[in-house]
Amino acid sequence: MKRNIDKAAENHFIEKSDIVKILETNEFDEYLFHTADAVRKEYKGDTVHIRGIIEFSNICKQNCKYCGIRKDNPLTERYRLSSDEILLFAKHAADKGFKTIVLQSGEDGFFSAGNMTEIIKNIKRLDIAITLSIGEKNTEEYRAYKEAGADRYLLRIETTDKNLYKSLHPNMSFENRLRCLNDLKELGYEAGTGILVGLPNQSLDSIAEDILFFKKFDADMIGLGPFIPAPNTPLADEKGGSLTLALKVMALTRILLPDINIPATTAMEALHPNGRIMALNSGANVIMPNVTEGTYKEKYLLYPGKISVNTSANQNYETTVKLIESIGRHAGITHGFRKDCK
Ligand code: SF4
Repeated sequence: MKRNIDKAAENHFIEKSDIVKILETNEFDEYLFHTADAVRKEYKGDTVHIRGIIEFSNICKQNCKYCGIRKDNPLTERYRLSSDEILLFAKHAADKGFKTIVLQSGEDGFFSAGNMTEIIKNIKRLDIAITLSIGEKNTEEYRAYKEAGADRYLLRIETTDKNLYKSLHPNMSFENRLRCLNDLKELGYEAGTGILVGLPNQSLDSIAEDILFFKKFDADMIGLGPFIPAPNTPLADEKGGSLTLALKVMALTRILLPDINIPATTAMEALHPNGRIMALNSGANVIMPNVTEGTYKEKYLLYPGKISVNTSANQNYETTVKLIESIGRHAGITHGFRKDCK
């Protein structure tokens, strides 16, 4: 097994059957994490990029069965920031030192392409990179955001198992998801995707397919989270995913795509107090603290146990830098594009 991991790290290629074998056993986990960390160091250095997330609306027209802010969750207290509030939070983050803002929301039809392009243009004047994470749009909308200055787009495929995708996403289509991702690539975004690890009825074989999809798609960023059952959703009583499995998927992704950006996600920390450090030591090179101000953060609950809901943007920045420095790494001072590498 160790030889297979070494070969994968050397060639950035691995057979599906070998991925499944690695995922099946925990015997070689430390070796896998250590190898992914060495690949991260070789290709990305010790810089950890900090991206500030603004969660600007928790209103969503979709009903993904795992999601705490799905349309049919009556207990979610809904909110939508104004364009001025979004710009203000972005300005505070830029003043603090953030080089990238991630604008994240549910699929909220209120924000037309016109609204969004204005917001993007105004934020770009702050000389920071913009990542959008606002769901499925048509090609023209994606084009408009890109032309307005958006740099990156995150759209998780969630799972490449078509039947599982269909069962989890009422009224959505796997084909349209793929169309969106292909549009984003063609339009010149840095395109990010990812999955939820440990979903009900998700096999290791299907996770192996997901990892190979990341490679085939040549994703610029991969965001992975363990599935955490959210209250008042159809999957509330299901068993959650394991942090270890999510870390293993992340480590394999780093080995196959050595120069991409991989965040240590907050969902990992929700399952373990050191979850993000464990991720940074297993292939991750990005952290995305929340810079949404006021009480909004506690209303954007995709899953329970979300960290840092009661802390300010300033505190989150300081805490994040300390966390990065505590493991001998340093915070990035560039926009942190994939091509920037080290
Ligand atoms: S996962 Fe995204 S698209 Fe699905 S319900 Fe939640 S916010 Fe909406």
